[in-house]
Amino acid sequence: MATTLIRNARIFDGTGAAPFAGDLVVDGSRIAWVSRAGARTDGAHDRVLDAGGRFLMPGMTEGHAHLSFENVAATEDLITPSPEAQVFAAARGAKALIDAGFTSAYGASEAKLRLAVAVRNEVDAGRLPGPRIRAGSMEISVTGGMGDESREHNPRRGPSIIVDGPEEMRKAVRLCCREGCDNIKLDVSGDPFYPNTPSHTTTMSFEEIRMAVDTAHAYGRRVNAHTRSIAGTKMCVKAGVDGLFHCEHSDAELLDLMEDAKDRIVVAPTVALFHQIVKGEAASSGLTPEIGLYMGIPRLLEESVRTHTALRKRGVRHVIGGDYGFRWSAQGTQARDIEFFIDYYGYTPADALVCATRNGGWAMRAPRGDCGGDLGTLQPGMLADMILVDGDPLADPRILTDTRKLVLIMKDGQFHKNILDDGVHGEGHERRGAVPADTHAFA
Ligand SMILES: [Zn+2]
Repeated sequence: MATTLIRNARIFDGTGAAPFAGDLVVDGSRIAWVSRAGARTDGAHDRVLDAGGRFLMPGMTEGHAHLSFENVAATEDLITPSPEAQVFAAARGAKALIDAGFTSAYGASEAKLRLAVAVRNEVDAGRLPGPRIRAGSMEISVTGGMGDESREHNPRRGPSIIVDGPEEMRKAVRLCCREGCDNIKLDVSGDPFYPNTPSHTTTMSFEEIRMAVDTAHAYGRRVNAHTRSIAGTKMCVKAGVDGLFHCEHSDAELLDLMEDAKDRIVVAPTVALFHQIVKGEAASSGLTPEIGLYMGIPRLLEESVRTHTALRKRGVRHVIGGDYGFRWSAQGTQARDIEFFIDYYGYTPADALVCATRNGGWAMRAPRGDCGGDLGTLQPGMLADMILVDGDPLADPRILTDTRKLVLIMKDGQFHKNILDDGVHGEGHERRGAVPADTHAFA
């Protein structure tokens, strides 16, 4: 297989260790070796790139992806568009992510059932640019819960599959599995955007959650939960949910439960949305800080800070990203979360980068079933997903939000972008699938 030597890099390997001057070799889709500068040279390589001392780090993972959310300002924006229109939005979302150095997207939910599945398949075939994708399902909710848009006088379909009772849950999860979803999304708790069921309420039952977990795991899929309430999050941990999203409210027992489960769960705080509302970034879409106050957002943000600072100290695996794709939070800007993790939860820059890289890679390919725990760090044998950054993200994490600072973007050993080597901007990703000869116009 073709080998690439990237020499003279400042390597941040994603383990949390300090960066070091070094060289790295990619063989096919995997990292063959990493060494201190000049410590190892073994023969010729098909391609040699001089990193010029720049910062080489693992590709980032969006840990709670909604690929199909584009310019969303209200639930209506998820319901009204056709699936045909939304699949293009999802494809644009995937491209925006990999252009921004996100080589993986761990799916939360999508506006329709098969959107992320369709985009994942095209990306995997090399026909569309995008990250590795664990395709999220639609939300699965319950009657009267978040996402149930029907009323007695006005039955209509929301962005969710509505189930009641374990047997309906079994059927819904099996449907998502049949249609190709990798990640099943449950709406376990309420939400500040649904006044009937605020964030401290718990709408799904333990039996329903347990059935979803057992069914999805039997199909080799993962289960993620929207859970803000104490009772909801406790049930999720006890039922074996893999990914816990939001988790603002907590008590001592819940923190202990999550710490006990830390070797098998990932947690996405999704703090950006609250930050954006409180700071007025969503105001031009009508979601002003005053409306946020009425919705209880500042209080939820305080709870988020308290809970996730505690979880950081307990070593729970946090991932960045989540709830981007709104009118005020374009896809591809998810690296802002690194700064939010530092400011709100007390992470060091290095540990926030570990959340963005190693923890996200673990979420994508946690060691179980056919997954090898082989993503998220720059170590021998790991999948070759990495970015080369012009600047020092440890000194200023905000540079990761500037795509012009990303000199190389590699996924699976192939360059999505390379402006180091020959001055040819890698706008067109390297295609692996059968591509008609007349597509060179895109390259
Ligand atoms: Zn979400």
